[in-house]
Amino acid sequence: GASIELEELTKRYPGNPYPSVENVSMEIKAGETVIFVGPSGCGKSTTLKMINRLIEPTSGRIRIGDEDVTDIDPVKLRRKVGYAIQSSGLFPHMTVAENIALVPKMVGWSKSRVKDRVEEMLDLVGLDPREFHDRYPRQLSGGQQQRVGVARALAADPPVLLMDEPFGAVDPITRDHLQDELIRLQHELHKTIVFVTHDFDEAIKLGDRIAVLRERSHIAQFDTPEAILTN
Ligand code: ADP
Ligand code: ADP
Repeated sequence: GASIELEELTKRYPGNPYPSVENVSMEIKAGETVIFVGPSGCGKSTTLKMINRLIEPTSGRIRIGDEDVTDIDPVKLRRKVGYAIQSSGLFPHMTVAENIALVPKMVGWSKSRVKDRVEEMLDLVGLDPREFHDRYPRQLSGGQQQRVGVARALAADPPVLLMDEPFGAVDPITRDHLQDELIRLQHELHKTIVFVTHDFDEAIKLGDRIAVLRERSHIAQFDTPEAILTN
């Protein structure tokens, strides 16, 4: 993994008089999993989108490892950061395989390596490649779409994973399996993970530390699950 450092990060959306994220500073260690919890609208998604360069911060800096990524080319960032969201964000005109292959292709993997990786990722999220490889997102259930979204985020093997309620629509048994896979990625591959969830059990199971956020992503508490539970 790689560390993530946010320095006085602020986002004001045009037309919105209030900042959605205000002066957030945070250090996430390499190989650490940090869970963001907090009420709907408190700026969790906005923060993740800024780290992933989907939206520009109004001010502040973002560092990943020893590189300042605040202004780098988003394509370069794709090598470092995988991103999975609740609504899966799959491209509807692309098959499952094409969606998963997107980032590895973008960052220059060979055709044969991409092909093997797509199969591997489908297996990882528990979808039989023979059945799902050539389907379109609309031909999948919500939970299956989410699993493909997770497969896509992991495909190029980035050191950092940003996951915004990635298992919300997945059935409980599959969710358990995906949580265990994520724990394996933490332990074996030392990924750095920022994970948004409303599920406190999930937060405790997956988190090294939990960041409890208030409006504008002000950090109310940032500590281990044990410390937060005893507070
Ligand atoms: P969360 O992920 O914690 O639910 P968001 O990051 O989605 O919160 O939103 C934070 C705040 O920013 C909310 O008040 C939301 O209404 C506002 N917001 C989000 N996107 C936009 C936008 N495109 N334009 C204006 N305001 C926005
Ligand atoms: P929405 O506004 O619908 O929540 P986002 O703006 O968060 O969607 O994401 C835009 C699209 O770009 C998504 O479909 C997402 O899956 C894709 N995407 C962005 N960054 C990455 C990444 N690092 N890895 C894989 N897919 C990505």
